[in-house]
Amino acid sequence: MRSNTAAFSAASHHGSDSALIDNHGRPITYLRLAITDRCNLRCSYCMPEQGVATISHDEMLSYEELERLVRLFLGMGVKKVRITGGEPFVRRGCIDFLERLKQEFRVKELVVTTNGVETSRYLKRLKALPISGINLSLDTIDRQRFKEITRRDRLSQVLDTLYGALDHGISLKVNSVVTEQTTDDDIRRLGLLVKEHDFSLRFIEKMPFSGVHDAAAAIDYRLQQRLEALFPDLQERKLEEVSTARLFTVPGFAGSLGIIEGSSRKFCSACNKIRITPQGVLKACLYDSGVLDLKRLLRNGVADGDIAAQIRSCLKHRFADGHATQAANGFGAQTEQPSMASIGG
Ligand code: SF4
Repeated sequence: MRSNTAAFSAASHHGSDSALIDNHGRPITYLRLAITDRCNLRCSYCMPEQGVATISHDEMLSYEELERLVRLFLGMGVKKVRITGGEPFVRRGCIDFLERLKQEFRVKELVVTTNGVETSRYLKRLKALPISGINLSLDTIDRQRFKEITRRDRLSQVLDTLYGALDHGISLKVNSVVTEQTTDDDIRRLGLLVKEHDFSLRFIEKMPFSGVHDAAAAIDYRLQQRLEALFPDLQERKLEEVSTARLFTVPGFAGSLGIIEGSSRKFCSACNKIRITPQGVLKACLYDSGVLDLKRLLRNGVADGDIAAQIRSCLKHRFADGHATQAANGFGAQTEQPSMASIGG
């Protein structure tokens, strides 16, 4: 973790009762909370077949600790909370946690990112919350291809979640990673689901985190050309708000297609997002390796007001964009890079 000495010279007079605004004037209103590092798939682009070393239960924030942090962040103006993993539903008690966030903590916009393997059984409860939306990761609807990509034969469970979410009227976005192995048939068949069903299908092309400014734009352009070849009537939709995805419609399609911008760094000037890892480390940007060890503060009996002050202090030293963050953190071939699952929606 990058040491941030400024973070520890906490100005205790700034507690948890006013908006969280960074040193570039960006209000922080969106918290992404990863509640587990575990996943029940083994997507080849994300982890090796044998999986990766998982962190122990004690190293992860407990639900109590997570709730304490959520309450703090809500007090500082956070409006949207996204629960992610790994796969959040592999953590026991995830649905009860979501219910508490909505019912007790009154999180305004609560959303989940999942691979859908375990989600279908919770859809009724998610609808009842109500959940504001589900982002589902799905790269193909061909069973054999799904097995190849994820090394698991679980397509039918994921499709149960997809169709179940639609049946329950839950707002659904499907995120689909495009790699060198992705076939036109994978893309076409996913796209045709959108013809029948009203959801947003967004493609993201796997790319190296090279830090080269133009690489992402070139990849997005190539992906757009590929979509245009497969769906000749593709029309770009003008979006009013800032979005990390460009959306397209096809006449006669119920839903929309999209491209998640390969470089989320295009949107840095309006970035309202912070992240907390399962180990309780605060990340001020996707490209940093952590700016504050929240777990240590929580477990050392630090009071809420002081934790809030340290969070504020950290966010007063935020880099202007992902490039600057990446440069300062020295991401290179040997260092940790953001996983595909943590990008975009
Ligand atoms: S790269 Fe960092 S600053 Fe830019 S939008 Fe992503 S998280 Fe925000």
